[in-house]
Amino acid sequence: MRTLSGRDLAAAIRAQAEAEAAAGPQPRLAVVVATADEASLWYVRSIAKAAAGVGIACDVVDLGPDASPDQIGETLSRLSADPNVHGLIMQTPLPAGASAQELAAAIDPRKDVDGANPLSLGRLAAGLPAFAPATAAAVMALLDHYEVELPGRRAVVVGRSTVVGKPLAHLLLDRHATVTVAHSRTRDLASVTSTADVLVAAAGRAGLIGAGHVAPGAVVIDVGTNPTDDGGLTGDVDFEAVSPVAGALTPVPGGVGPVTTALLLRHTARAANLP
Ligand code: NAD
Repeated sequence: MRTLSGRDLAAAIRAQAEAEAAAGPQPRLAVVVATADEASLWYVRSIAKAAAGVGIACDVVDLGPDASPDQIGETLSRLSADPNVHGLIMQTPLPAGASAQELAAAIDPRKDVDGANPLSLGRLAAGLPAFAPATAAAVMALLDHYEVELPGRRAVVVGRSTVVGKPLAHLLLDRHATVTVAHSRTRDLASVTSTADVLVAAAGRAGLIGAGHVAPGAVVIDVGTNPTDDGGLTGDVDFEAVSPVAGALTPVPGGVGPVTTALLLRHTARAANLP
């Protein structure tokens, strides 16, 4: 079994982002936050640090966990219209009552570096240029980096969220894979996932994918990031159980995660250089 680390690929993408950032005006990324969720705040800090490392300015606009949907929408509209801001991210979770899908429509698609605006997903589905959600793009980047063949092969995506499962299904279709999307209402998940040449787990359920879910030799990409009792992270795939069966498997942490952050930065550098 081959372990598909994302660390070297992430470093290469960060180097590209740094070169692209240096080629024009300094890119600026704005991250709108309205939560007290520790994991989410930790992630925002890690984006800000990574941005600084490649010469991208990063403003964290923290509205606090009691922000109203109107406040969040107005902030996104203001930053969308600000010519000094090139990339704009709305961090989730949002306060109860705020719809991420509705609010993301306020993000200018040209600044939508995490592909959150429904227009970006629509363009992606139509095969038009758009920023893909960084996590979905990271899965594709890993598959390409490790030269995983896709045309005609069976890909199964577990999870149908707007940020990961749905855009990823479109990206895989564009690459001529035969795509199946499984989700929480799928009956007999193992019978579906075990047909996959390429299996992507993006359900947010620790250990959901065991040895019986995986075909011998399959390439398995684990998107899940589930907090553990000791403050760490674990994936959706039971790494120990699946290792002897799979042909290749991404670790958590150190697989999809670092590539996702690096791609957010490269998207921001590209947004700053858009004509
Ligand atoms: P989500 O909760 O919005 O969606 C989860 C999806 O999984 C749903 O479509 C649901 O139908 C499906 N699902 C849930 N339980 C299932 C089950 N038992 N069997 C089959 N399908 C099931 O989550 P999300 O935002 O798409 O994130 C998914 C996971 O990816 C989470 O662990 C999240 O933390 C992680 N994530 C990682 C990164 C990264 O950079 N590595 C980025 C974003 C999300």
